[in-house]
Amino acid sequence: MFKIIRNIVPFLPDKYKNEFANTVIRENFLKLIICAVFIIFLESAIFIFFKDRLFNIEKIIISIIILNLIFLPVFFYLKKIPQESCHTAKKTIQTIYVLAMLVWGCAMSVVPQSRFGFINVYVMVLFAASAFILIKPVTYLFIFSSVYVGFFFILPYYQLDSNAVVILRINAFGMNIFAWIFSRMVIKMRMHSFLDKKTIEEKNLRLRDMAVRDSMTNLLNHDHSFKMLHDEIQEAADSGSALSLIMADIDHFKQINDRFGHTTGDEIIIGFSQILLKTCRISDILGRYGGEEFIIILPNTLLKDAAAIAERIRATVESFDFRIGAPMTVSGGICEYKGESAEEFINKTDEKLYRAKAEGRNRFII
Ligand code: GH3
Ligand code: MG
Ligand code: MG
Repeated sequence: MFKIIRNIVPFLPDKYKNEFANTVIRENFLKLIICAVFIIFLESAIFIFFKDRLFNIEKIIISIIILNLIFLPVFFYLKKIPQESCHTAKKTIQTIYVLAMLVWGCAMSVVPQSRFGFINVYVMVLFAASAFILIKPVTYLFIFSSVYVGFFFILPYYQLDSNAVVILRINAFGMNIFAWIFSRMVIKMRMHSFLDKKTIEEKNLRLRDMAVRDSMTNLLNHDHSFKMLHDEIQEAADSGSALSLIMADIDHFKQINDRFGHTTGDEIIIGFSQILLKTCRISDILGRYGGEEFIIILPNTLLKDAAAIAERIRATVESFDFRIGAPMTVSGGICEYKGESAEEFINKTDEKLYRAKAEGRNRFII
């Protein structure tokens, strides 16, 4: 049962529903403007050039021109206002317009029945609406059926041949069903192309992420860390704001690998990166610069504040239980940007890191 309902009403994952609705409404309003302009020109031309041959549909034509002239500025206005707002108003207006056009098509077919025993305009509007304006199948069901009920009861007043009435009612019924199925197909197709686009966008985002991140720790990789440092140096040079850099290297890591194996070594690197994520601020840029060497770029940060963060990292690592039965430590260097190039900035910080190692490890040198 659920499958049948899901098939009748096209299905879209919840996270996309709002965005899809907004996209469709925006597209609808552009098409409604085109529709209204087209109808105004076409009907005005018919009215001007065939005025004496219009029989009894003259008033219907005038009223549809006036109706479109009223709707046109409303469409322009609703298309211009921000996407998210007036959602209900937009939906209501487009529903009312489609309903009005269908009533008009129906009237254009029913009123001259004594002369033309066809319902061409009604059918034309049915299919034009289904193909052009994307509205929920349920709403279309309501619009189509209410207009058809009107058509069904009014037809005998204009078409006096009872056989013709039966045939036209059956034809119109079939065309309504057909047009409704068609409208569903169109909205489903639009949904598929929307979903395809979303999938491609998400995959591209993931690919871009894979290109800049280290797969083990999910921190920025070497190349992208360097690029970010370059960008932040540019930013600091342009705005005159402070910029600090920390380089950190786990102490005696070779011994860990030798004693506990590479898998344990990997787990420690991951654990260390998680400590960095927890102790640093959202604005800090974290990268895995080498094997067990990390870089932390701190925009808008003075040396003393960078030192406080480094000390927090050092103390957290020292007291953290890495489940190897012995404490781990980390050493590093801290520098503040003083107008040098990215390479010079890194070398300067790296020198401090080597001094920290030389002076006995488990410390950061400023
Ligand atoms: P120091 O205190 O001077 O830093 O000593 P150290 O032993 O840590 O020396 P160094 O920093 O030169 O050693 C880095 C070691 O880290 C060498 C390498 O085997 C190991 N390593 C690098 N990348 C990885 C990795 O992805 N996984 C594991 N398990 N080990 C790695
Ligand atoms: Mg090391
Ligand atoms: Mg190292």
